[in-house]
Amino acid sequence: MIELESIAEQAQELTLKHFGRTILLYVPLYLNNECDNECVYCGFANNEGSDMLSVNQVMAEAELLYQKGFRHVLLVAGEKRDKITLEYLQDVVSRLHEKFESISLEIFPLSEEEYRILFEAGVDGLTIYQETYNRELYKQYHPSGPKSDYDYRLETPERAGRAGFYRINIGALLGLASWQDELAALAEHAKYLKKKFWRSQISISFPRLKDSGARFKPPYPVSDTQLVEMICRLRIMLPTVGLVMSTRESAALRDNLILLGITQMSAESKTSPGGYSNCQAKEQFAVSDQRSLAEVMVAISAKGYEPVFKDWDRAFIGG
Ligand code: SF4
Repeated sequence: MIELESIAEQAQELTLKHFGRTILLYVPLYLNNECDNECVYCGFANNEGSDMLSVNQVMAEAELLYQKGFRHVLLVAGEKRDKITLEYLQDVVSRLHEKFESISLEIFPLSEEEYRILFEAGVDGLTIYQETYNRELYKQYHPSGPKSDYDYRLETPERAGRAGFYRINIGALLGLASWQDELAALAEHAKYLKKKFWRSQISISFPRLKDSGARFKPPYPVSDTQLVEMICRLRIMLPTVGLVMSTRESAALRDNLILLGITQMSAESKTSPGGYSNCQAKEQFAVSDQRSLAEVMVAISAKGYEPVFKDWDRAFIGG
């Protein structure tokens, strides 16, 4: 425990030195809830009765988020290439680009050329999780569909980097394999990307599967203490890499993590298409932190940090 306290102190010092006292807020916007993959842990796998937003419906959701203050939006979609087409994405992105400062994608892997086209339309960021870096386990969790190609997925951040994306966010879905192994692989992957795409901002997310009584039970559950240790160790190994925490985690844990190295957070998230307009579509997973954006901002301020909506609000101190 003494060792954890000591690395937590180091992590906090390094985060203050390189990022100051700011937390960048972003929000996911789901485009659909249907997918051709069969990831054994996901609520969208084999979803019958799908929902997908039209471009106008996306704009209506986005307007609600803009009015709340969000300027960073993360577009999320399951793999349905016949419906979530390049033309659809181009249309959505170019219209969002008129208002939002940053648009990131968390969708199925694309080719370098497709990323280039979307970059031109206004996308600047990619979130792609390898889910697990363990090849054998990866095969078991992704038995079929395009996602079963481990290498194509692993090379995705590089295709986006070559296309010009300047925000690249990677992660492992915690609970699928030993957290110590994922920690080591994530650190290596982030270091490699940082070196290769030194102009891009590299960040790491910590999506964690919990045993919620649903059909999939994570075989390598990660405790709160282990999650904290993982975040602190990554901060010490990679002092200038952004660390991202979603609303999968509880309000209490998220508030405490603000002090230890987290630099970006989502807030008031919905994980279904049309969720902000109160549509009753199937959600990908239940969020734990259900506070409103205003409540999250109050909590961040109470810790002595400033919630910000734009990167240029934040004092990045580099190094
Ligand atoms: S995790 Fe992603 S790729 Fe897998 S089934 Fe769910 S939406 Fe599809």
